[in-house]
Amino acid sequence: MKNIAKTVGFKPGERNIFFHILTACNLSCRHCYINKKQHGTEQLTIEQIEQWMAIFADPDKKSNMIFLGGEPTLHPDLPFAIEKAKELGYFVTVDSNGYLFRDILNKTTPKMLDFLSFSLDGPDAETNDPIRGIGVFDTCVANIERAVGLGFNVSVIYTVSRKNLADLHRMVPLLIKLKVKKFFIQVIGLRGKSAKADSEEISQVSRQQWLNTVPEVARMAAESGIHVTYPKVFLSAGEAFECAGVVAENYFIFPNGRVYQCPLCEDHPINAYSIENNRLVKEDGLREDSFFRLNIAEGCVMNKLLQPDTIEYDDKGLPLYRISCCLLKQEIG
Ligand code: SF4
Ligand code: SF4
Repeated sequence: MKNIAKTVGFKPGERNIFFHILTACNLSCRHCYINKKQHGTEQLTIEQIEQWMAIFADPDKKSNMIFLGGEPTLHPDLPFAIEKAKELGYFVTVDSNGYLFRDILNKTTPKMLDFLSFSLDGPDAETNDPIRGIGVFDTCVANIERAVGLGFNVSVIYTVSRKNLADLHRMVPLLIKLKVKKFFIQVIGLRGKSAKADSEEISQVSRQQWLNTVPEVARMAAESGIHVTYPKVFLSAGEAFECAGVVAENYFIFPNGRVYQCPLCEDHPINAYSIENNRLVKEDGLREDSFFRLNIAEGCVMNKLLQPDTIEYDDKGLPLYRISCCLLKQEIG
């Protein structure tokens, strides 16, 4: 059936490599999850980028390479990294804050770069700029128009928080106007800055707020031909719980060499792997992967440990619902 959201199970043999090639950024978004103490301040050299990409390359699997930062277009060798990733057989995406530094649109091509993703947290400057910075909306939209005009496939990422949930539906006409092909709705995590003092205002929305808004906006966008992806978050009674750390292959690589399998763990020195001397090394001791197989009534173990406020209980102390793996997605369109 058309335009019915479906849960996309983890696909065996498919892997996602989220490669933070630097942590520097020109912006300071209120919900930024980059934590330089944990993720480093280095900018990887092009030799490191090439060698680290080769570690994860596997011609027998569909592998997605997502270049991230900080702001990845600040890296002078990003065009070359994109070319190398393509040579290694990756499906290549760059996630940008919209500033598109170093003339990236003219230094790579839509053939090399499969998708260029822009972050927007509001349908206008009034909503977006208090979260992402003054002037960011206009810059980002102008660069989306330039990218689409040059033939790039463009996607947009919208991070839902209490500040912008009510404005989500107004993204649909904007995305249509901008000819955006894919729309990713994310939920803010209580990580990095969002876990600090101003968390009340900016942090996660409630289950009801999420369910009342996000699936409906996704359906509206899908009706206009846009492919929409959003996290499952809440599992219903008959749905199976699976931890991506056990059943999928996701790697979150940081410039200090830490490699995580679970994004919820990224603020803690419990990465399952590290890259040392250009080799992937399994870390010993109590690490994120020690938790992945624990079976609890609340669903995701790391969510229970790190974000217990997201779970509601009945008067017998049983959870009202289970929280899915944060990497489990719904797709529509
Ligand atoms: S653009 Fe991304 S890396 Fe830069 S401050 Fe915003 S969230 Fe953080
Ligand atoms: S979010 Fe939870 S379920 Fe998903 S990989 Fe992390 S620990 Fe596993």
